[in-house]
Amino acid sequence: MTEYGPEDAAAELAAKEAELRRKLARLTAPVEDGSTIGFGKRIGDGTTQAIQQMEDAGSAQVIAETLDAVLRARARLDDGTWGRCEVCDEPIDPDRLEFRPWSTTCLAHADAPR
Ligand SMILES: [Zn+2]
Repeated sequence: MTEYGPEDAAAELAAKEAELRRKLARLTAPVEDGSTIGFGKRIGDGTTQAIQQMEDAGSAQVIAETLDAVLRARARLDDGTWGRCEVCDEPIDPDRLEFRPWSTTCLAHADAPR
């Protein structure tokens, strides 16, 4: 078994980017009937759809953030800093990179504000 390296990450990041862009395009596509449906006074289809749209907006936000991380990781692959923490420049745990190749911080700085 070989160690997880930049070559593996490059392939995975490219695939991930394509997947995220597809999802984002679908989520942000205009609603079929073009009408804006708000919360009505009665519980009905409109309400269900409005909630669905809110959930879609939430996941679109998450996807956009992940896509941003993927793009930053790809840029770091190019300049040779991939695998190192953006904050402290220490190597990132290989297990963490294998699980999420777009990780740009070590575990200690995973939740640090950028
Ligand atoms: Zn760090």
